[in-house]
Amino acid sequence: MIYIIEAGIQDREGCKGCSASVHATAEQIQRLLSKVKAEHSVSDEQYAMRLAACRTCESLAYASTCMHCGCFVQVRAKFKDKGCPHPDQAVRLRWTSLSTPLEEA
Ligand code: SF4
Repeated sequence: MIYIIEAGIQDREGCKGCSASVHATAEQIQRLLSKVKAEHSVSDEQYAMRLAACRTCESLAYASTCMHCGCFVQVRAKFKDKGCPHPDQAVRLRWTSLSTPLEEA
């Protein structure tokens, strides 16, 4: 029994908060992005700026997952009504300098 529990935790990469995988392949990310409608998307320039901010953020895990909201940043950054959920405003502003007004997470 202990083995099963330990194996389960190992499958979840040590995350005890949920059973969802925190890893996604580029193909999975692309599949999610393909469902985002143009009217809900930021411009390509804004998207690139947001991802650049995420790449330098200490809260990015596995090159895909935001540790504050659990989102895949490649998907969250695409939505114009989403903002960076970081508690530090200086970090959040890296996402908003070119963006239209945002809703907080
Ligand atoms: S806190 Fe903001 S900048 Fe950092 S990974 Fe999350 S969404 Fe990206």
